[in-house]
Amino acid sequence: MVTEGAISISAQYGSFRNAASFNRQASSRGLKIIAVLYKGGNAAKEEPRLLGTVENELGLRPWLESQGHEYLVSDDKEGSQSFLNKNIKDADIVITTPFHPGYLTRELLDTAKNLKVCVTAGVGSDHVDLNAAVDKGLEVLEVTGSNVTSVAEHVVMSMLLLVRNFVPAHEMIERGDWQVSDIARNAFDLEGKVIGTIGAGRIGYRVLQRVLPFGPKELVYYDYNALPDAAAKTVGARRIDDLKDFVSQCDVITVNAPLHEGTRNLINADLLKHFKKGAWLVNTARGAIANAEDVAAALKSGQLRGYAGDVWNKQPAPKDHPWRYMKNPLNGGNGMVPHYSGTTLDAQKRYADGTRQILENYFNNKPQEAANIIVGKKGYETGSYGKR
Ligand code: NAD
Repeated sequence: MVTEGAISISAQYGSFRNAASFNRQASSRGLKIIAVLYKGGNAAKEEPRLLGTVENELGLRPWLESQGHEYLVSDDKEGSQSFLNKNIKDADIVITTPFHPGYLTRELLDTAKNLKVCVTAGVGSDHVDLNAAVDKGLEVLEVTGSNVTSVAEHVVMSMLLLVRNFVPAHEMIERGDWQVSDIARNAFDLEGKVIGTIGAGRIGYRVLQRVLPFGPKELVYYDYNALPDAAAKTVGARRIDDLKDFVSQCDVITVNAPLHEGTRNLINADLLKHFKKGAWLVNTARGAIANAEDVAAALKSGQLRGYAGDVWNKQPAPKDHPWRYMKNPLNGGNGMVPHYSGTTLDAQKRYADGTRQILENYFNNKPQEAANIIVGKKGYETGSYGKR
C-alpha cells in the first residue's frame, strides 16, 4: 500500500540515490550568501511567519551571522545595476525563490566567479539555467517536497471552483444581485468526470489521491515516468502515452510537471484543439508551460470552460496580462490568483527549515538529501526535468 507520506512518494523519485558530497571543509567561515526574496511590506512586519520575505529573510540571519557568514537579502533582481547582478559576482551561495524568481541566466552565471551552490527556497528550479549550471559545475538544490501538499490542495480547490462556477457566483453576491440560473447554467459536479494530470510526481500524485473521494469517472495521467504499480493501483490511475489522446479524454486537466525544454509552451493552440470542448484546465506548475494568448483565446471561444492557477509567464504579472481578465462566453471561468499556492505559512516554515538544512549540510561537508539535488557535481541528478 502506497501512502501519501513523504518517504513512500519520494522513494519513487530518487531520494535513495547516492547522495552527493560537497567536498567542503567542515565549519567553513566567512562565505558570502545572497538571497532574492519577495517584499512582504506591512504583512511581513505583522506576521513573522511570512519567512520567505525580504523582511523575515527565511529566519536565517542570526544563525548565519553567528557562523561568521555575510548574508545579504533583497527583492531587487532585474537589470545590470540590480542587487542580484551586482552581488552575484563574488557570492559563494545564492538563494532564490520561485515566488519572485531571480533569474539565474547563463549570462549572469558567467559573472559569478565564486559561486558554488544555488539554493531554491521552495520547489521548481526552472528560473536557474540548469544546463548552464551543469556546464559550470554548479550545484542546484531545492527543498523538494516542502510545499507539494500545499499545491495539491490548491489544485483541488481550483478544480472545484471552476467546475462549480464559484467565482461568478461570489461576484454576483458582492454586486448585490441574485439570479441562480445565471450561475447554475454553467455549474457541474466533479463527480463523474475524467480527471487527468500532466506529470504524476509528488504534486500530481497527491492531486489524484485527493480527488479520488469525489467519485471521478476515471483518473488518468501523462508522464514519461510511470507511477509505481502500487501507487497507480492505489488511486486506480490509467497512464496514457500520447498527449493529444490524453487531453482528448479528460474533462479536467491539471499540469504538475516542471518547466523545461520539453514542457515550455506545451499547452498551445494546436494542443488546445484536441481538448474536449468545454474542458477545465488548472496549472499551478509554471505559467510558461501554457501559451498565454492561446489559453485566453480558448477560454473566450468556449473551447476551455475554465482556466485556473497561480503561476504566470511573467511574475509579477503585468497589469495588462490577458490571464487577469480573460473570461468564457458566460463571463466566468477565470480562477487566476498570484503565485501563492506553495507559500502558505505552513509551507514557508518547511522551506525555510529545509533551506537551513541544505546550508548546514554544505557548511559541514555532509551529503545533501538526494531528492533535493536537481543538479549535482556531475550533472542532472533529478529525473523530473525531461528525459536526458
Ligand atoms: P516532481 O519532480 O515530484 O514531479 C514532476 C513530474 O513531472 C515527474 O514525474 C516528471 O517525470 C514529470 N514530467 C516532467 N516532464 C514531463 C513532461 N514533458 N510530460 C509529462 N510529465 C513530465 O515535482 P513536484 O514536486 O510534483 O512539482 C512539480 C512542479 O510544480 C515543480 O517543478 C514546480 O514547477 C511546480 N510547483 C509549483 C508551486 C507553486 O507554488 N505554484 C509549488 C511547488 C511546485
